[in-house]
Amino acid sequence: MFELSDLPLRADLVGRQPYGAPQLDVPVSLNVNENTHQIPEPVAIEIISRVAEAVLKVNRYPDREFTSLREALAHYVGHGVDKAQIWAANGSNEVLQQIFQVFGGPGKSVLSFTPSYSMYPLLAQGTGTEFISQQRDERFELSAETVSKAIRDAKPNIVILCSPNNPTGTPIEQSVIAAAYDELQSISGGILVVDEAYVEFAHDQRITAVDLLSTRPNLLVSRTMSKAFAFAGARVGYLVASPAVSDALRLVRLPYHLSSFTQAAAEAALAHSDALLANVDAIREQRDRIVVELTAMGLDVYRSDANFVLFGGLTDPEHTWQRLLDQGVLVRNVGIPGTLRVTAGTQAETTAFLTALQQALGD
Ligand code: PMP
Repeated sequence: MFELSDLPLRADLVGRQPYGAPQLDVPVSLNVNENTHQIPEPVAIEIISRVAEAVLKVNRYPDREFTSLREALAHYVGHGVDKAQIWAANGSNEVLQQIFQVFGGPGKSVLSFTPSYSMYPLLAQGTGTEFISQQRDERFELSAETVSKAIRDAKPNIVILCSPNNPTGTPIEQSVIAAAYDELQSISGGILVVDEAYVEFAHDQRITAVDLLSTRPNLLVSRTMSKAFAFAGARVGYLVASPAVSDALRLVRLPYHLSSFTQAAAEAALAHSDALLANVDAIREQRDRIVVELTAMGLDVYRSDANFVLFGGLTDPEHTWQRLLDQGVLVRNVGIPGTLRVTAGTQAETTAFLTALQQALGD
């Protein structure tokens, strides 16, 4: 049979594994940090009506500059952001890929503090960018000293900080981000990316790296509609940065990369952001409930500002993972010894998870 190994693959991709959380059909799916709430029906109807309008014009290419979507995103982000500072793509994964294509590439490097989002090394690989990984501090926290020293040692062209961090939930202080920026500018004048995919779930929702942008042209803040907006299936991610960054990303984006349907759906969702974001508070409550309950079970729970919780103290995480799955609950083993990660779902899903875990730990 003709197999992958028979193809004339690019040498640096030979033997590589693709991104892949298990996709299993289970009653309680809490493994990829989705928002498990369905979008409200009135919003769904509005989306359908805007997409229906777009169908009538689908013979034409979409607005290449997605102007009204950028306006709507700028309005949503607030903090004085103008539409010229917004860029968007099919999920923040694509935004990050474009950033790596433009500022990384052969001869360039990206520094990240692991454990962090598993796509960063894959995006580096795909764009021929060297991936440099540095360990985080105790309990996966990150101090200004650690970040600055790593930048001094590695002299990277790109630094990517994930806040709150996936898969640990750990937020990064604004002062650490500012220190990282200063160090990076003095070392290489490189690009600092702050990935805020989960920012809306933070305990203090007012804090964002967007506030650091005005005096820092090489700072890029990546966001997504996948999580807080419950819009993962639509694939809409965006970036807040200086307008010059959009000019840079235009050099690598595919023509008309955001379809008319994507733009129409995202604009409709943003017009109803209050209704869509209404579940964020409920999810934060379930997240905090998981932290309290797992701590009471004697587990080692990491602090989280995201819509998921990493917990340790498991003697055999693979066994616990399987026992949860046997009871219809899918969580994630992210490969950190002794731990599992669970997404905060609805109240009922969280109850199902907690009950199943109690049972699994008793086995
Ligand atoms: N950044 C982080 C930290 C993530 O966890 C994810 C999704 N799991 C993404 C970016 C990408 O999300 P999307 O492409 O759906 O916007």
